[in-house]
Amino acid sequence: MPEIRQLPQSVINKIAAGEVIERPASVVKELMENAADAGSTRIDVSIEQGGAELVRVADNGCGIRREQLPLAVASHATSKIEDADDLFRVGTLGFRGEALASISEVSHFCLRSRTDADTAGYELEIHGGQRSEIQPCGCPVGTIVEVRNLFHNTPVRRKFMRTTQTEMGHITEAFTRIALAFDQVHFTLRHNDRIIHDLAPVTNWRDRIATFFGDELASSLIAVNGETEGVTLSGYVADPKHSRANNKLQYLFLNGRHIRDRSLQHALGESYRGLLLTGRYPIAFLKLAVPPAAVDVNVHPTKLEVRFQNGSQLYSHLLGTLRQQFLKTDLTARVTLDERAGADAGPAAALDSDQAAQHRRDLTSWARTGGGAPTSSATPATTPQQPLDLGFQPASPSVPEFKPFSTDNDRWSPTPNASAGTIPAAPDATQPNHAGGEAASPPHAQPAGYQIHNRYLITENELGMVVIDQHALHERILYEQIREKVLSGGLETQKLLVPEPVTLTPAEYARALDNRDVLKQLGLEIEPFGGDSILVSSYPAMLGNVNASEVVRQLLDELEAEGKTPEARDVVDELLHMISCKAAIKAGDPLTQEEIAALLAQRHLFQDTHHCPHGRPTALVFTRDELDKRFLRT
Ligand code: ADP
Ligand code: MG
Repeated sequence: MPEIRQLPQSVINKIAAGEVIERPASVVKELMENAADAGSTRIDVSIEQGGAELVRVADNGCGIRREQLPLAVASHATSKIEDADDLFRVGTLGFRGEALASISEVSHFCLRSRTDADTAGYELEIHGGQRSEIQPCGCPVGTIVEVRNLFHNTPVRRKFMRTTQTEMGHITEAFTRIALAFDQVHFTLRHNDRIIHDLAPVTNWRDRIATFFGDELASSLIAVNGETEGVTLSGYVADPKHSRANNKLQYLFLNGRHIRDRSLQHALGESYRGLLLTGRYPIAFLKLAVPPAAVDVNVHPTKLEVRFQNGSQLYSHLLGTLRQQFLKTDLTARVTLDERAGADAGPAAALDSDQAAQHRRDLTSWARTGGGAPTSSATPATTPQQPLDLGFQPASPSVPEFKPFSTDNDRWSPTPNASAGTIPAAPDATQPNHAGGEAASPPHAQPAGYQIHNRYLITENELGMVVIDQHALHERILYEQIREKVLSGGLETQKLLVPEPVTLTPAEYARALDNRDVLKQLGLEIEPFGGDSILVSSYPAMLGNVNASEVVRQLLDELEAEGKTPEARDVVDELLHMISCKAAIKAGDPLTQEEIAALLAQRHLFQDTHHCPHGRPTALVFTRDELDKRFLRT
């Protein structure tokens, strides 16, 4: 029969620490929250070695009186609530009274504090739970907490700490959340004596967002405001042209507390329905003010999640407010125009789609020639495309002949005058008059297939009728081609004459530096460049003149979304997917007969159960049997 024992306090504290203090960033979060709760107007955070050596948070808040110091570090001792009812009117970030007790149990801890009624401060040290005598000390009004050698007495936790850069990424994220929530407070963040952030108080929240996420994003933010039944929503959401591959850039603050809430994130996603491609997430910075009684913050050890009394009301409030805002801003129209490649767009959208088309030509041209950096100024060698006659007529006589489903291997090799075509054309199509061309043509040439609605290609195989998604197929083709290049080591890099600075979020920055070697293997050379910026000094030539920051960010996003430890192979694959998707023709692009033929010539890529790299099917087959049945022929 096992014996039941009361655990000693230090073990209890260690267990509590396990819940609340997962890594150095948790310490930063707890100490910054305490500083904010103390009414500080200035909070300085200093970190050494990613927090493994030191986390120091100094504030100019109310301070702690001498006789209260032992209580501050005792567990379940707090000044923030008095009784159980208070749990339902929490107006502070903290209320559990556990943080300092937990942290001091697993570190070398020093607390110095002075109230403005005192002429000197007092100091209390705790080493692994062992408390020293309280000593007077000189210090300004406010509180300074230093946490050294975190987890020195919990080796397993210590072992779980990641590289300095990774830990620093988490710390900066924790810092960002609180600095975003308290925009009236002056914050600084230092790492190993390098100043990472120095944030003066702002009157406009957008300005603080800009310091973290860049002016470009901040200036495209759309303000949202709404109020129903005591719930106020305010803040910003990004124009749909800015989106991410994960939901990390969705900052939600509930009564000043950063929270994650699936249902609200879902509402956010819903409000963008139709405005973003699948797999893309909106960017948002939103503050919700809810009567404290309507929310239970006591459901999660680090209070990252909360429970709402009336969640569905909040959900529809968020959804409704955003939708209304979007209607006002006429986002729908803008996005649709962009996506339709300027089909019936106004001048501005037409310009955008021209650029997009040029970009696509550049990339495709790279994919065909397999190297070099195409320039934007390259003019397309092909004449403007004629939209296909949808009347299922044979192609017009001016369309050069081609070999449907020919099996030549060099079909995709570069030809002199097609270097910038939208789709690499079959050789016979681009050079109709080459020697023997006439003879090589099949006697009864038929179109290889038809394009309908500018997005699907219809053709046949021995089983029946095949409907192909033109974007998916082209993407697949480019993917295979580029992959071959990379596997055979034919990946050229291009040194940038002027290295390009890229501003990242703290977490992206950490990930970028963690993956520096892998990125280098891909020809993407980066180095730290102050703050959360990196400098891109070279990148794969295959990317041509694609915006470096976009590439870096998207790659990092993808890696984060996958949540895997990236290996060179994974990163290469992400890169391939990205390039091929970008370069491929889109739904809505009219294709010439040669282009259709060239695409369909790669039939092996859609004949099997091949899928577009994103996992959508490339082709659907309607078998002859099925058709016969439908037409009541059997
Ligand atoms: P909680 O924040 O949940 O109350 P903590 O363990 O974080 O628990 O802190 C215990 C108490 O110590 C707080 O309730 C507060 O009274 C006091 N305290 C902690 N940090 C500070 C600070 N920076 N300034 C003033 N008081 C503080
Ligand atoms: Mg606290």
